[in-house]
Amino acid sequence: MIEDDYAKAVAEIAVPESPQPLDEAIPAWAFARAIAQLPAAVCITDADARILYANPAFTEITGYSVSEVIGQNTSILAHECTPPRVYEQMWDRLVHARPWTGLLVNRRKYGAVYLAELTVAPLLDAQDRAVYYLGMHRDVTAVHRLEQQVHNQKELIESMVDAAPAVIALLNGSGQVILQNHEYKQLAAAMQGKEPAVELLHGLRESLGESFQHHDGEGESFRNKEVSFEPGGDAPTRWFSCSGIWFRESDDRADAFFQPVRQTYLLLMVNEISTLKRQQEEIRTNAMRALIAEQERVRSMREALQAAIFQMQQPLNLIAAANEMLERRRSSPELAPLRSVLGQALASGRDALEKLENSIPIMPPEAIAPVNINQLLREVLTLSTQRLLAGGIVVEWQPAPVLPAVLGREGRLRGMFKQLIDNAMDAMEHCRSQRRDLRIVTKVQENAVVILIEDTGPGVPKELHWKIFEPFYTSKPAGDRTGIGLALAQEVVNEQRGMIGIDPEYTDGCRVRVLLPLDHDGGFEE
Ligand code: FAD
Repeated sequence: MIEDDYAKAVAEIAVPESPQPLDEAIPAWAFARAIAQLPAAVCITDADARILYANPAFTEITGYSVSEVIGQNTSILAHECTPPRVYEQMWDRLVHARPWTGLLVNRRKYGAVYLAELTVAPLLDAQDRAVYYLGMHRDVTAVHRLEQQVHNQKELIESMVDAAPAVIALLNGSGQVILQNHEYKQLAAAMQGKEPAVELLHGLRESLGESFQHHDGEGESFRNKEVSFEPGGDAPTRWFSCSGIWFRESDDRADAFFQPVRQTYLLLMVNEISTLKRQQEEIRTNAMRALIAEQERVRSMREALQAAIFQMQQPLNLIAAANEMLERRRSSPELAPLRSVLGQALASGRDALEKLENSIPIMPPEAIAPVNINQLLREVLTLSTQRLLAGGIVVEWQPAPVLPAVLGREGRLRGMFKQLIDNAMDAMEHCRSQRRDLRIVTKVQENAVVILIEDTGPGVPKELHWKIFEPFYTSKPAGDRTGIGLALAQEVVNEQRGMIGIDPEYTDGCRVRVLLPLDHDGGFEE
């Protein structure tokens, strides 16, 4: 009999002067039923917090029956865990006729403790005095427990992530970092204002190409993908091994409640592997040194033999011509011995030429693979360290921070750069220039990797800018070189469908500009 309860409770409550009129369209019993049916614990008290009315949910939540609580102070629910200042704050608002909402620890009839989210609203008379209080509370223990668990887990995950010896960042769909750990912050500081995640993702996209795009936002993960970063200046290359997990999370905004919007996130985990890479590079450099020495040996043998063949061909052509003339004069018997001698000379000359041609050592075939030009140039510089130091040459290394891989034959490309750097060093040493600067720049330009090799030597006269790429042309003292190095460089660049040339604008020495296209489809001739 809810209406009766309400009528009884209301009868016991002294109605103040000019009470707030109830809406005439709704009878009083409807209000009573509304309060009675509320799933929240509702009570109405007098100004001293003595309970005048309690609804069924109040009984359900507190364990006290209505008859047990009528006339009792609401403090029967108080638990000593609630700090006194909470009640003081509550009452401070209530005595000023202002409502209060907060959390309290309550005790049920049989001692069980629960967390109550309580709202107390003063019911004011015509003089704005609080004559009654309306209290409404919910048991939010379970919600609090869940919130606490989530909070604890978040704290645990955050401290684990922070303590992890790896760089960890969480990125939203637009690539912004929304969470990062201690290691990440350290890396960001070391990268002087650059956002590590942006640089690393850029590197991943550049080096993995379409296979990375495939991962992009597709919910697939990638593991241990290596990316290098060039800090520039004297700082060594930094290497990172990147792993990432894409995941989707429902948007927690209210307007996305009925139409869930799923946000994509990327959890990026990065380990610096620069030390390991440097060790590997050292081993590689040593192997390279041996390989380059062997390549140099083979190349100089090839150059010497090709030059010898070239030199022998001219007199042999003359002998062949003379022999042909004598053959036409077969009728003169006195010329027979000369004809025979010339014939023998021609035969043995051709034989010698063939032997020489057969003895040209063959360059071993090389597979076509993606080549990191920055790394290649670094290797060549490392190989040339001793000579650079001995020659007092200052190297200015200006690599592009991230350089896409070029498809090509690594050994051939390395040999070419070694040749160009050797040429630059030769030029500066021969002219005994005071300033000996070697500047190497790499950059990406219109879908190509561009490499500039500049020296402060005497430079190349304009009229020789094309000639020096011809075979057997050399400006170096006789016996130094055969003049085939730049011709080979031209050959390697041609294989890449690229370009090589001397920059006519550069006047401080010589600047060789090499352009290697990135969209080269690998149609190399074998
Ligand atoms: P109390 O001595 O009752 O109060 C602590 C401090 O509050 C005092 O130092 C005093 O400054 C101030 N105070 C207390 N009563 C008044 C008053 N009438 N006027 C001005 N200042 C006062 N408490 C709960 O623990 N759980 C509840 O669910 C709960 N529901 C409430 C519902 C309503 C509608 C109201 C009005 C109060 C409710 N209270 C509730 C508060 C309760 O009345 C007590 O103030 C509280 O429980 C602390 O009790 P106590 O005996 O420890 O200290």
